[in-house]
Amino acid sequence: MDPSIETILAQAGSRWDDKTGAVSMPVYQTATFRHPGLGESTGYDYSRSGNPTRAVLEETMAQLEGGARGLAFSSGMAAVDSLFRLFRPGDSIVATEDPYGGTFRLLRRVYEEIGVKVTFVDTSDLGAVEQALDERPRAILIESPTNPLLRVADIRRISAMARDRGTLSVTDNTFLTPWYQRPLELGADVVIYSATKYLSGHNDVVVGIVVTQTSELGDRLYFCQNSVGAVPGPWDCWLVLRGLKTLSLRMDRQQQNAKAIAEWLTRQPHVTKVLYPGLETHPGHELLKSQSSGFGSIVSFEVDDADLVKRILGTVRVFLFAESLGGVESLITFPAAQTHADMDEEIRCRLGISDRLLRLSVGIEATEDLISDLSSALGGEKDRGVF
Ligand code: PLP
Repeated sequence: MDPSIETILAQAGSRWDDKTGAVSMPVYQTATFRHPGLGESTGYDYSRSGNPTRAVLEETMAQLEGGARGLAFSSGMAAVDSLFRLFRPGDSIVATEDPYGGTFRLLRRVYEEIGVKVTFVDTSDLGAVEQALDERPRAILIESPTNPLLRVADIRRISAMARDRGTLSVTDNTFLTPWYQRPLELGADVVIYSATKYLSGHNDVVVGIVVTQTSELGDRLYFCQNSVGAVPGPWDCWLVLRGLKTLSLRMDRQQQNAKAIAEWLTRQPHVTKVLYPGLETHPGHELLKSQSSGFGSIVSFEVDDADLVKRILGTVRVFLFAESLGGVESLITFPAAQTHADMDEEIRCRLGISDRLLRLSVGIEATEDLISDLSSALGGEKDRGVF
């Protein structure tokens, strides 16, 4: 019987060390490896090319996703970049029009500048996706749900349409992780992560992951990983492995808080819009339910006045005003000035990443403390003085 995902997570790295039986994967803090003799290798030669702690993280991620090969990178952006290095000037690719701001910057300012043609489309609109795919791009990159607008893309249908046209389909699954959503099982060719977020879960490390459906593509990306050298160190890999052990518990608890907060926000007089796919009123709710077992814990909301944003960011005491997401600590982010500052203003305004939009990454704190914090910040009941 294959182990269930909770078991793979809980025992990430716990069975590797046959020599000592160490239950926690050892951190192989070494740059190089001694050869037994001329022409012989232990399987490890140099840590850019491979390191046991990194290898266990990569194998665990491949197992969790049901993929042929996993690769770890020094950041989520290095993981995205490794994929785009497959393309050449003149190639065209399609990407979701509201990706993480760093992905937008990489595509616009690095790849478009060297002649890769990027078409941005609303990937929650299957008609628009089909039209873009009819141009036979080399790849399509989707995020589902997107950051920070929480739009949902139909991974099954998009992957099938891409396959019919010989286009590589790539899903950034950072928000839901294999605990809630497994894109390769839905037909995607590649899944990518900022492991900085939920996979590690404690806001203490920056790492990226790629998992491929086929070993052929995995081998091509490995060539690039080894050639470019954007690899994480063994300590960073160990931190992600340790985070994985509690992924299912953290995500369920975070989601429980997020749902309560999203519902509460819908009743607040100064809140004009709440974006959370776990709300039945969210346009992507049913689709997300059909392809994932959870909705995640990112909640974006819009207030009625830009001045209120400043006040909220200056008043919150439990939520930490910081970039990033996915950790056990709740964070509040102002996408227009932080994560999406490098997106063209015209595009940002058209999409609705306005100066009245805030994004919450909900953590595992007590629900009532989080709600009380937001309530005071929004000018509601008095601060109970949590801290
Ligand atoms: N993809 C998504 C959806 C993200 O939210 C982020 C970072 O916020 C990245 C990729 C980039 O990851 P990293 O910050 O680890 O480079």
